[in-house]
Amino acid sequence: MKKKHWYDYLWLWPIVYFALGLFNILFAWLGMIDFLLPLFIAIVFGNKAFCNRYCGRGQLFSLLPRTLGCSRRTPAPRWLASPLFRYAFLVFFLTMFGTILSRTYLVFQGTASLREAVDLLWLFSMPWAHGEENAPAWMVQFSYGFYSLMLTSAVIGLIVMALYRPRTWCSFCPMGSMTQLICKSKQRGKTPPECMPPVQAAPHASEEKSTNVS
Ligand code: SF4
Repeated sequence: MKKKHWYDYLWLWPIVYFALGLFNILFAWLGMIDFLLPLFIAIVFGNKAFCNRYCGRGQLFSLLPRTLGCSRRTPAPRWLASPLFRYAFLVFFLTMFGTILSRTYLVFQGTASLREAVDLLWLFSMPWAHGEENAPAWMVQFSYGFYSLMLTSAVIGLIVMALYRPRTWCSFCPMGSMTQLICKSKQRGKTPPECMPPVQAAPHASEEKSTNVS
């Protein structure tokens, strides 16, 4: 039996993250680790070690179908992994992140009021007042926006996990796309195996093995 490492348990991290946010929305800031660490690893080491080893979300998408059988395990439509869709989704995701930053700035300036709600799938707005009176309003505003973004992307990932292969989200995940671009640019345009996203790197492989593939 393969020896387990501490990072094999990082699938717990997204569960802990969303649970903490239920109690105090300020914990949403911890999600910046998932945002900055993959970029740091890609820039410094020129590889996708975060995807292949340290991504709790990717691990969770592998683990849930294995333990609960909640994935149809059918191939996703080709367009979902096409460069056009991946980069369009990346641009959309970054635009949404920019919107969060601009709203945070407006609250910081005092030209916009704090909006205490978590948005899901950019369609549904859930009032979510947690009463963080002691924190600056801009910090709370960023928390709501970032938690919404993390929750929305997790829900999309769970939907495509259930409909298609477990790690389908990884084929268009914005963090995966960004780290792949960085990695490729550091490898002078080539795409060595360590730069491939998990789904593309092992298109015929069992998703059970995919936690550490590519
Ligand atoms: S592609 Fe995204 S979800 Fe998948 S392992 Fe990489 S960072 Fe995690």
